Amino acid sequence: MRIAASVQKLEPYVPGEQPKARDVVKLNTNENPYPPSPEVSKVLASFDLDRLRRYPDPNFTEIRHRLAEIWNTVPERIFVGNGSDEVLTLAARAFVDDHEAIGSFDPSYSLYKTLAAIRCVPFVGSPLAEDFAWAEPVLRGENGAPVALFLLTNPNAPTSVAYPKAKIAAFAKTFPGVTMVDEAYADFADEDCVDLATAPDNRNVVVMRTLSKSFSLAGLRLGYCIGPADLIEALYKVKDSYNVDAIAQDVALAALYDLRWMKANVAKVTATRGRVKAELEKRGWQMPDSQSNFLFAKPPAKAGETAHETAERIFDALRGRHIYVRYFRGPKTGDRLRVTIGDNADMDRLLQALDEIA
Ligand code: PMP
Repeated sequence: MRIAASVQKLEPYVPGEQPKARDVVKLNTNENPYPPSPEVSKVLASFDLDRLRRYPDPNFTEIRHRLAEIWNTVPERIFVGNGSDEVLTLAARAFVDDHEAIGSFDPSYSLYKTLAAIRCVPFVGSPLAEDFAWAEPVLRGENGAPVALFLLTNPNAPTSVAYPKAKIAAFAKTFPGVTMVDEAYADFADEDCVDLATAPDNRNVVVMRTLSKSFSLAGLRLGYCIGPADLIEALYKVKDSYNVDAIAQDVALAALYDLRWMKANVAKVTATRGRVKAELEKRGWQMPDSQSNFLFAKPPAKAGETAHETAERIFDALRGRHIYVRYFRGPKTGDRLRVTIGDNADMDRLLQALDEIA
């Protein structure tokens, strides 16, 4: 058996655990605690099985039309993927030459580094400023390889912090490569960058969204992006023929026609986010203002332990109580926990457990 050298040494991306047990409080993968639109169950209940005999629409025509209507743009500027992770993989294929590099901030979504390794190009992690704020991106990698694709998570994960839109716009103006704004969490934020992507004179901003978080459809696998027509066309050139299945296309369409449901769920999540942040702060935790559906929170110092030891101990103790949050080891992230906002009962269980552990 032969495995490519680049794959032999590849450090795979490790997604958050999906525990099998039922009685768990699952706050580790930024899923939505509320169900998707009831329109989704209607579509599933009435789905015509005969449609599964045939291939799905390779151009996701109806979804693109609906998205064009939502964002006041044209379908030619929209691409749809099997989750936004697939859109990222295709962007690495379409927008980066072999001698170029992929960049993002550090810390950010750790999949980006793996995507660069799979694409066999260097990854350039740009350090953020204090409090995870914007710092000018580093745009050269090993051996001077220029960054051709900058993956800009906004709001950022796992930090939960949003960057000022003016910074992103100014950066994209001077950056010769593609600025891909990963807006997986933007429905939970005060601001978004979609108008940068739909602007008539936009040459290099692509904004990406997912139905996994705000629409409560992580199990469905549907993401999309909006950008200049030539970049969108390039993504079509490198995709699999039928990358979004027929069921996903119908379900996503139903969800996209029920924005009210999504927005009501987002309002519940952001209300709980404010309450939990205040409760954690009362207990001495520190965290930036979150513009997402999670908090990135540092527990209070404990005598005899480093900050990293404290965070990891609490992570383990919560796990022992079937409460799953996320812990990212490493110099910039290891002193805190990323906690997805669940429903109020989930969060009460978390707070009670923290009181018992502390
Ligand atoms: N971008 C970011 C920043 C994320 O946190 C995630 C979820 N892990 C994704 C993209 C991928 O989302 P999906 O593939 O479910 O659309």
